[in-house]
Amino acid sequence: MTPTKRIAIILTVVFLIPALFFSVYEISGLSKDEELIEEIYQKQLEAILFSANQYSDDILNSWISKTEVALGTESADDLPPSLETMLTLNSSIKLVFISKDTIIHHASLKSYSLDTLVANSIRESVARGLGENGLLIQQLIKYKKSGFQKIVMLPTSNESLAHLQVLIFIVGSSPSSFKVAGFVVDPDAFVNQLVGPRLQVISKDQFILSVYDKTTKANVYSTLTLDTASLNSAKLVSDFWIFPNYALGIRTQGSSIQQLVQERTNTNLVLLIGLDVILIVALFLVFRNVKKEVQLAQNKSDFVSNVSHEIRTPLALISMFAETLEMDRVPSEQKKKEYYTIISKETQRLTGIVNKILNFSQTEAGRKKLNIERVELAKEIRSMLATYDFHLRNKGFEYTFESTTEVCVNADRETLVEMIINLVDNAIKYSADNKRLSISIGTKDGMGWVAVKDNGAGISRHDQKHIFDKFYRVSTGDLAKSPGTGLGLSFVKQLIEQQNGKIAVDSEPGKGSTFYLYFPLAQ
Ligand code: ADP
Repeated sequence: MTPTKRIAIILTVVFLIPALFFSVYEISGLSKDEELIEEIYQKQLEAILFSANQYSDDILNSWISKTEVALGTESADDLPPSLETMLTLNSSIKLVFISKDTIIHHASLKSYSLDTLVANSIRESVARGLGENGLLIQQLIKYKKSGFQKIVMLPTSNESLAHLQVLIFIVGSSPSSFKVAGFVVDPDAFVNQLVGPRLQVISKDQFILSVYDKTTKANVYSTLTLDTASLNSAKLVSDFWIFPNYALGIRTQGSSIQQLVQERTNTNLVLLIGLDVILIVALFLVFRNVKKEVQLAQNKSDFVSNVSHEIRTPLALISMFAETLEMDRVPSEQKKKEYYTIISKETQRLTGIVNKILNFSQTEAGRKKLNIERVELAKEIRSMLATYDFHLRNKGFEYTFESTTEVCVNADRETLVEMIINLVDNAIKYSADNKRLSISIGTKDGMGWVAVKDNGAGISRHDQKHIFDKFYRVSTGDLAKSPGTGLGLSFVKQLIEQQNGKIAVDSEPGKGSTFYLYFPLAQ
């Protein structure tokens, strides 16, 4: 396994997987929290509606006790004063009635009201209703016998009652004295005058509590003034116990708890995902840096072996020929001369390598002094080619130099030539068969350029990204074995960047490469 792969695996296992696991766990936990809060909230709303219903029941129970006390077992003929007070205080009660015994018929019903006109018009309907609901009365008696006082709505279909509701219950202390009693109530008035104020207290400006008519779905009362919302907009609905055709509904004012929880969940979600993205980007950057360092270390070790190899060959030749000369084993003067030439050439080669390394380390440390001046590209290239002509032809190269106009740039004259020679040397080194070279110059986007084009081995897209790295050498292909240090292009890149220029390459494997050097144009 390569070191980079190992680092990638370590980073993934140690950081990425735990972080992603944690995120997934947290995200699933978020929706669970939301459900829990929702459930608690729902229960709270239910409790509020329950207490509103309970309150209505309490009112009725207090009415029942007052009625029982006022009427006793014997029904009085006149309106007893305590009952009168109750009717005066509670205008929603239109009529209080009591039967003379448990067998109901019209004549046996005694009624009390503040408004005799209303009383007369509805008493008969009540009596008829009672007569039609014998079963219900029997049931109430059964409850009463087991000590349970219940008040229920009497189902009536009589038009004279209009929207009034009849509520009945049993009074009396023993089965023999049981009588049916009841109230005729205006439910709207009951809700508005008695339940409403209580709902206001419960709502505490946090909720909107309303009483709806189930058939029309419109609200009969709402804690919010001028509320026109219908039954459907309530968050939770419960039956109104005493008036089954009414319903109690509740909804929240402003942003609801669900919205708040949802908002919080969304914020947490965004934060978690954001953190994960940052982590992934950070890991990617760390990985890229580490990969670069590993690559550099690898290139360095290759460099050492490349340089040793390059130095060993000339050293071996020099030592062999020097020894031969020393021992006077050379047959002729001509051979001697040949050997001296070889020794001198190999020494030059060694010097070349050493100079290259020294130059590189000097440039890298920024110690190389540059003298930026106006340089005429065509003139410098022509003079360089004149010196290099023999070398190129000797290597079997044909070359052309095209320049229609002179291009003047700001550059360090000496290093400019050095850089072009570097590119030409590479072109020679990496062109095995097609030995043609062309140099051209021009201007583009305010820069002057020199292009060195060969028709040699070319460079793959992957290698093009790395050839300007320190010590990097292409390790595959026919020419991979050719001697080199991997410093040349990196050296050129450093030099040109110090002169505010840049280097670029355009290459296709098997077809050749073109290297471009860009310099700032001189005024
Ligand atoms: P060196 O030539 O000493 O290996 P360089 O930095 O000059 O180092 O080049 C880096 C690599 O780029 C070389 O190993 C070679 O594979 C590739 N390269 C450079 N110039 C050319 C070229 N003209 N044609 C093909 N490959 C090239």
